Amino acid sequence: MSLPKIDAPIFTMNLTSIKDPIKYRPFLVKEEKLLLMAMEGGEQAEIVTTSKQIINNCILSENINAEELPLFDLQMALLNIRSKSVGEVIELMVGHPEQKNSNGESCEKTTKIKVNLADIKLTINDKHSKHIQLTDTITVEMKYPTMDVYNRLADIENAEDASAVEELFGIVTSCIDNIYSGDEIFDVNDHSKEELSEFINSLTSDQFEKLKTFFGTMPALLHEIEYTCSTCKCHEKQILNGLGDFFL
Ligand SMILES: [Zn+2]
Repeated sequence: MSLPKIDAPIFTMNLTSIKDPIKYRPFLVKEEKLLLMAMEGGEQAEIVTTSKQIINNCILSENINAEELPLFDLQMALLNIRSKSVGEVIELMVGHPEQKNSNGESCEKTTKIKVNLADIKLTINDKHSKHIQLTDTITVEMKYPTMDVYNRLADIENAEDASAVEELFGIVTSCIDNIYSGDEIFDVNDHSKEELSEFINSLTSDQFEKLKTFFGTMPALLHEIEYTCSTCKCHEKQILNGLGDFFL
């Protein structure tokens, strides 16, 4: 007789970029092993790939693809899945930024702290909107970049060489969802790349900056921690941000 099969419990969560609640299961021992291995390796790219794989395995609702989720939803999904899998409280080792404590003395030691994943919320900027008004009559509706695009964006945002500017241009263009002109709606999928590029090229720098604000103010997973270093007894405040900070 074969061994009994174990049904994983099913939970639901809400993600900012998806309208309906999403069904998911906790990750299983085999998936936890993958995640631990990726984290021990410490390679950012591998952690990202493994995280996406686990999210795709654990999300049971159809038509959700980790590749297409914006970074903040990917992080939120992983936090939810993880808290239902191994518990809400995680232990992290944190150290002083650049090995200097807030008194300016050097201290290389790290301190173990506990973070309750349920306390971590998405930080929403009041000024953030998907709808960006360019003129009295023209408004652009943006869509969120995927994690891969987001990582590229962080690399090139402050670069000034021509190829970086060109790439930034491409990324901004690729994140335009709809264009509204008066009562008319233009779905970018109905228009060629050339047309869209012409539209972007006709913007003033001021208008282009407005589009860039969309990226700078996107929701982010930030969490402030306060702790006392176990070695130098210095009190520290830090902001945790991103997958690496929460899981390493
Ligand atoms: Zn210290």
